[in-house]
Amino acid sequence: MSLPRVAVVGAGTMGHGIAYVAALAGCEVALHDSRADALPQARAKIDELLAGAVKRGKVTEEESARVAGRVHVERLLDDAVKGTGLVIEAVVEDLAVKQRLLAAIERAAPNDALLASNTSSFSIGQLAAALEQPSRLVGMHFFNPVHVMKLVEVVTHGSNEPSVTDRAVTFVVQLGKEPIVVKDSPGFASSRLGVVLGLEAMRMLEQGVASAEDIDKAMELGYNHPMGPLKLTDLVGLDVRLAIAEYLHATLKLPHYEPPMILRDKVKKGELGKKTGKGFYSWSD
Ligand code: NAD
Repeated sequence: MSLPRVAVVGAGTMGHGIAYVAALAGCEVALHDSRADALPQARAKIDELLAGAVKRGKVTEEESARVAGRVHVERLLDDAVKGTGLVIEAVVEDLAVKQRLLAAIERAAPNDALLASNTSSFSIGQLAAALEQPSRLVGMHFFNPVHVMKLVEVVTHGSNEPSVTDRAVTFVVQLGKEPIVVKDSPGFASSRLGVVLGLEAMRMLEQGVASAEDIDKAMELGYNHPMGPLKLTDLVGLDVRLAIAEYLHATLKLPHYEPPMILRDKVKKGELGKKTGKGFYSWSD
């Protein structure tokens, strides 16, 4: 199957990574963000990723230039989604924002374009309800950092035809990633499990059970996790984790999804993890 022309809407932590891996796989990619400074920042991060790939001998200088040339930053949503076969939404984890945006994407994108959301937790069916044709939307949940993590969850909901799921799975394979297909339910397979671990680690830190380093070490050395849950939360972004926890708590109604005070306090103080230089760890250097 030929590679689709792709638009990635939202050029933050995830959006720039998705645009990079799609361009690396050979897709022409339009990258859009509503925040003025997001696009030059995303472009700089993609250039950094390419420079690293060249240094490690993963791509040649010539290939790197071709990949960079396949990423087109677009200030207007309509220009970004024009002529695409696939639009991937990767904006802030806010249900109303995503629903409004997906409706605008549907109006501007070609009728046959597949629409995907990179949400970490929201019901895909609920997001799809904002569309004229809900069957066009699937969940396509990438992991951070996108160029490193193999897994992509393809999340299907009630009105998806099998052909829609197949298109999403095919694209994930074209990127060289490993898809799993998960039925729509809050937090899917990954966040529903992973968030419990992260929140419990925060409660343990609050209660003084051990330091952040030692709680992480317990999982890294005792359970062979490549990274402890607090360090992972710093990479994901504490604001992103809080939004997911609040949604899972409200929808699944289980006490272990209740966000701990330490998470709320840190988000209030702007300690959002690696992206702001401080979270459970200091990332200033
Ligand atoms: P982020 O805050 O780094 O980036 C979000 C971007 O969306 C920002 O640049 C913002 O300006 C832009 N944006 C907001 N509203 C917009 C709109 N209406 N139109 C266009 N752009 C808009 O967030 P992120 O960490 O990249 O997360 C994006 C999505 O990916 C969320 O749904 C999140 O749950 C999911 N996700 C995040 C991670 C992670 O580790 N951070 C992992 C998997 C999935």
